[in-house]
Amino acid sequence: MERVVLKVGTHILTENGVIAKRRMLALVDLIVQLREASYEVVLVSSGAVAAGYTKLPLDRKSVANRQALAAIGQPLLLKMYQETFDFFDVICSQVLLSADVFGFQEHIDHAKAAIDTLLINGVVPIINENDTVSIEELVFGDNDRLSAHVAHYFDAKLLVILSDIDAYYDKDPHRYEDAKRRAVVTAILPQELEAEHSPNNPFATGGIVTKLLAADFLMKQGREMFLASGFDLFDVKSFLVERVHRGGTLFCKKSYLASE
Ligand code: ADP
Repeated sequence: MERVVLKVGTHILTENGVIAKRRMLALVDLIVQLREASYEVVLVSSGAVAAGYTKLPLDRKSVANRQALAAIGQPLLLKMYQETFDFFDVICSQVLLSADVFGFQEHIDHAKAAIDTLLINGVVPIINENDTVSIEELVFGDNDRLSAHVAHYFDAKLLVILSDIDAYYDKDPHRYEDAKRRAVVTAILPQELEAEHSPNNPFATGGIVTKLLAADFLMKQGREMFLASGFDLFDVKSFLVERVHRGGTLFCKKSYLASE
């Protein structure tokens, strides 16, 4: 079975400040289809802070408030996932990680054993940063970095980032009409990593740079990343189920492609 990590950002999961139930349903439906196509799927989901804000609108400028919002929102988010997965008769589970888990081999081994056990038993792990005690997601990059670590250390060949943007372009498509999609990226130049962070939503903290950093990390480990739209799941479905690369960007080292 091929293991794949799907990462979904806050922007996809929320609409007008609340969790977008229809989009969550489409995402869960995609996961069910991927499982039928023999993938083992691990989901990395943001959205806890936004979910918390729907209950208690604390000022999100303070880190402590964002941590409190994550604590309020995480169970709400999981409840919604659970109800949605129930609809498909699939069990899901919550795994909260902090970045320092990846600093110790023993911790990695334990976490991987738990993830493996969930997957062997047909359960979908839903991973999020444990924001109330570790603020990596709240400060850097909306889970892009965490999901790259999850893909590498839990041995998934591919990370799929479902974003508000449908691909990586030669320049920001929200600012330049003539931006062109890059279908395959085999190397990331240092100047691309220095581009300004440009998150597109008041809850998002990432922007394209954190996605490029995630891709760079995975390519160096001989793994791949696919960036596609989370609003319209056609391209990701086509890439993973039909194995036809229509839209989206594949980040993949050339040598790795050649050895396939
Ligand atoms: P998400 O919330 O889905 O994680 P972000 O909003 O944080 O995504 O980051 C994606 C945004 O990055 C896009 O909406 C786009 O405006 C911006 N961006 C900047 N440069 C580029 C580029 N070269 N290609 C694609 N998107 C870019």
